[in-house]
Amino acid sequence: MMMALTSTADIKEWHEGDRCLAPSLRDGTLQDVTIQKLTSTAYGEVTALVRFTAQCNDGDDEGQEAVFPVCKLQRPDTIHQSSAASANEKPFFLSSQTSPGPSEPLVLSTTGVAVPYTINRYLRHYQKKGIQFIYDNYAQSRGCILGDDMGLGKTIQVIGFLAAVLGKTGTWEDIEKNRPQFLLTQIDSEHCKPPKLFLIVAPLSVLYNWKEELDTWGHFRSVVAHGLRKDEELARIRKGRSEIALTTYETLRIGLEQFNSIDWCAVIVDEAHKIKNPNSQITAAMKELRCRVRVGLTGTILQNNLEELWCVMDWAIPNCLGSLGHFKNKFADPIELGQKHSVTKRALATGRSAVRSLARKLSQWFLRRTKSLIKDQLPKKDDRVVYCSLTSFQQAVYQAVLDTEDVTLLLRSTEKCDCRSGRSRRKCCYKVNAKGVRVKDLYFSYLAILRKVANHVALLQSKGNTSKKQEQYVKDICEKVFQNFPDFTERCKQESFEAMSDPMYSGKMKVLQRLLKHYLLRKDKVLLFSLSTKLLDVLESYCMAEGLEYSRLDGNTKSRERLKIVKDFNSCPDINLCLVSTMAGGLGLNFVGANIVVLFDPTWNPANDLQAIDRAYRIGQCRDVTVFRLISLGTVEEVIYLRQVYKQQLQCSVMGKESARRYFEAVQGAGDQKGELFGIKNVFRLQTQGTCLTRKILEREGRMEVGVMTATTHTDEEKRRKSMDIIISLMAGPH
Ligand SMILES: [Zn+2]
Repeated sequence: MMMALTSTADIKEWHEGDRCLAPSLRDGTLQDVTIQKLTSTAYGEVTALVRFTAQCNDGDDEGQEAVFPVCKLQRPDTIHQSSAASANEKPFFLSSQTSPGPSEPLVLSTTGVAVPYTINRYLRHYQKKGIQFIYDNYAQSRGCILGDDMGLGKTIQVIGFLAAVLGKTGTWEDIEKNRPQFLLTQIDSEHCKPPKLFLIVAPLSVLYNWKEELDTWGHFRSVVAHGLRKDEELARIRKGRSEIALTTYETLRIGLEQFNSIDWCAVIVDEAHKIKNPNSQITAAMKELRCRVRVGLTGTILQNNLEELWCVMDWAIPNCLGSLGHFKNKFADPIELGQKHSVTKRALATGRSAVRSLARKLSQWFLRRTKSLIKDQLPKKDDRVVYCSLTSFQQAVYQAVLDTEDVTLLLRSTEKCDCRSGRSRRKCCYKVNAKGVRVKDLYFSYLAILRKVANHVALLQSKGNTSKKQEQYVKDICEKVFQNFPDFTERCKQESFEAMSDPMYSGKMKVLQRLLKHYLLRKDKVLLFSLSTKLLDVLESYCMAEGLEYSRLDGNTKSRERLKIVKDFNSCPDINLCLVSTMAGGLGLNFVGANIVVLFDPTWNPANDLQAIDRAYRIGQCRDVTVFRLISLGTVEEVIYLRQVYKQQLQCSVMGKESARRYFEAVQGAGDQKGELFGIKNVFRLQTQGTCLTRKILEREGRMEVGVMTATTHTDEEKRRKSMDIIISLMAGPH
């Protein structure tokens, strides 16, 4: 609300053609711009289209255009008087963007280690606590895990910590200390205190973001040791000319020896959940990296099971939870058993006590905070799951896939072999199908096919020929299935793939149709996410056919183009729909203009889905956000979705929430307790007649809360189609 008020005042002050200062697109420093156009957006904010002029320090942004809320613009005369600019203080943000706290350092130790005031004044309370947590462990030569949710500023906390231990001031003094690099080679190395060296390991997609953040928040001497410049940059580090090296998991693994020849004070690993598999090469390399203090950052330490948690913790603080076997006996097994819906009182008590003691143990080295910490700064988020029934055509195709010989082979693969060897069929006489394809490969091929059918039958239509053996096999299966549907085959021959965007091939599409109609009419801004580019093509052709205004952003969109798409979407009142690839990672995707997020085909990795949601639901968002996940009812999607809920339930419980709900009969990894979630028989089946596993589970639990939607799109049930009844919520836990 504040923003709207100041904006109204501001528009009187600014005129098109005015020269002023705006944050650079590259690093946020102030640059000269000219206002091209002033616009008032639908929700009361005034934005300015500006062009960067030639006076930039290095000319990088010259000629570029960008849109800013007018509150981010500044008069040139006010800035030149600013003492901050003359002191070269970093970070330097405009006061209207984030109002800074008092200019005092954050003292971390009695020896005077402190986060400089330049950074500290921008830190939130929990971030200060996070830095203290990392520092306390570091001071005792011990690793730790910062497990904050995405959006809480893990990067800033690490940078604050680094600034403190490197003795930064955040002012011109740092530059002075950094400057005489050429002198360092001349001074006898004995007179030179060995510099403190830090290593940051991150996935490539965020590596350069780290570099940018470091450059924004302080005067650090950092280098990216990756690609062609790796050897050169590591040599600089070795000579003490840099203090922070950034690299990727892969580069580290390949060049482990080189990295091990440097004496690191600490290694900081972003997305540390990548170290979850005790047997992977990444884990092996990370464990071999010589460094006493290992700091891991992850918002999703527990993606699948408790062993993953063990693996990450065991990397950060070796042996902190004992051996894997010990951990399983003492914690993992009792906790997972205690999760079961129909658990005995005794097992429940054992489970809870294991949860308590694990949470207590973890608390020394593991700090986890959720987004609820900043919820007062964010508008509301409403998570809804929409169960969409298949169309009758879709259902017939789904069933035809299930009826194939291969699926029968799969379903029987765990039965005892008829040769009486005592082994299971898949490990004995039925390892392969008639064509010699391994049962294990069949599993993944058919799973992929079912997931396609669950989304849109047209996805089975492959374009052109494929060279990959696996894909060719999938293609053959599809052709065989479609022999039962001559009309469809005929249509495919006559029309292009895009013309197949007919909603009769997809129940979700019918739901989407209604959602879009409803929200676009209200001038809401909708982000439509899909995992698959092919599916985006189908959705796009649908939008075209319906005459909807839309934009599209996927992995092939060039970075410059991306910024423009995001900007236009956020500010232009005519573009209210954007199709986005869930996997289009990277930066600059700040769709704060969006208030409706639709995940057409959830990725089944909660982290990916959350990241998609995070594009819209983040600081800067002024409106409430509604998220819809579309799940095909009775299909494998529902099972996979419920497994996500299972994992989240487990995660809540490990974080010490004893009262976490127990929905399921299934216990992960327990062969005899597959319940409703695990095992092949739950994957390869179709539950029809409107049965909804989720609903059954929740009815059993006696919980019927707001949040989950079932949308019936079955053509036989025309009458019920009109109603979209909101019933229940499973996802109430994590946020
Ligand atoms: Zn056999």
